Amino acid sequence: MPDSPHRPGPHSGYGPGELLALDRAHVWHPYGPMPGRTDPLIVESASGVRLRLAEPVHGQRELIDGMSSWWSAIHGYNHPVLNEAAHGQLERMSHVMFGGLTHEPAVRLATRLVEITPEPLRHVFLCDSGSVSVEVAVKMCLQYWRSVGRPAKQRLLTWRGGYHGDTWQPMSVCDPEGGMHELWSGVLPRQIFAEAPPAEFDESYAADLRDLVARHADELAAVIVEPVVQGAGGMRFHSPGYLRVLRAACDEHGVLLIFDEIATGFGRTGALFAAELAGVSPDVMCLGKALTGGYLTMAATLCTSRVAEGISLGEVPVLAHGPTFMGNPLASAVACASIDLLLGQDWQQEVKRLEAGLREGLAEAEGLPGVKDVRVLGAIGVVQLDHEVDMAAATEAAVRAGVWLRPFRDLVYTMPPYVTGDGDLARVCRAVCAAVRAG
Ligand SMILES: *Cc1c(COP(=O)(O)O)cnc(C)c1O
Repeated sequence: MPDSPHRPGPHSGYGPGELLALDRAHVWHPYGPMPGRTDPLIVESASGVRLRLAEPVHGQRELIDGMSSWWSAIHGYNHPVLNEAAHGQLERMSHVMFGGLTHEPAVRLATRLVEITPEPLRHVFLCDSGSVSVEVAVKMCLQYWRSVGRPAKQRLLTWRGGYHGDTWQPMSVCDPEGGMHELWSGVLPRQIFAEAPPAEFDESYAADLRDLVARHADELAAVIVEPVVQGAGGMRFHSPGYLRVLRAACDEHGVLLIFDEIATGFGRTGALFAAELAGVSPDVMCLGKALTGGYLTMAATLCTSRVAEGISLGEVPVLAHGPTFMGNPLASAVACASIDLLLGQDWQQEVKRLEAGLREGLAEAEGLPGVKDVRVLGAIGVVQLDHEVDMAAATEAAVRAGVWLRPFRDLVYTMPPYVTGDGDLARVCRAVCAAVRAG
């Protein structure tokens, strides 16, 4: 391919076999054993919606990315606008500490986030990763109640089937059964769990939610949920009506409401933020993943003036959190460029186009043996099986079809970059079906 947009990197001197041996010996991978038991694919570069492999695997040298690198690469890879933002900022400064110093990229990003998120979110804490943003959100809420003289309000309420990250507090509100953190159930702070939300609005489930909030109000600091789409906890969708129920119950009983929009933010569900689908605002909101268009690690915790002022009235009037790389200028500059790129185009139309393509392309999966459910919302397509997927077989089938997918549990799913063309999207859907047949 003489016109390939992929450029070779600096030569490491490692051949593919050597690289895999060193990887296996020294490098942890997500949710993996040590040493590793399966060989990851070696990616040499990425451009547009394609990952270029170091060598052909099952006859494929390039794979269409059906995962957006876990929800993040919404504009695809090696995007000229994001590259330019990164280069420009790199030449000014990659990082400076945020204690006692500030800079335009972080101020611009925070201001932009306040502008585009629902009212009355007004203050922004920029941190390193989604899990940390959830830690910060929880700390804000617990500290708020401490500051206003209600220190007993320390627990969290959520519903089953959620995922909020892998550090300690987030783990305590992940799905307690069958999830990735079951091992820790006896060690983590004990939170209050409602049943997983049904897909359609169900009045008796709503009544249970109201009742749980009311009954535990004295010990509850906050309710924390992923609005409308539960991601890594099971790729389930639910009625936005439940978010209105939670908002009303929290207001009535004096409990704060946290929306974890780390996966749903920046258009993935068809709304810029899933909170908009319900027409309600949280007191605290977490953003991450697509925040920098998948370029750099950064997340944000937004809160209302009520929460911020409450904290500032306390005996300890500061929020004692300050990661080394807080407000990182490089990530902030790319995040600003990614948001401008998104909002500067008819992104709603693009997500609708992907939604229609996923519905059409995944319809075939409904008739396949072992399929329990096929569901599509925005640029998210999910095939749920009636059995645990054979990950190795399913992944191989997708790779043979020229697509990168990462099935888990009983799920084969895709959330492609918004720039995926119709032909590539059809190919992603065919690969999902191939993975379902194989898995
Ligand atoms: C991925 C995710 C997180 C954790 O973010 P990390 O950047 O992986 O720490 C938290 N909440 C939700 C909803 C997520 O999808």
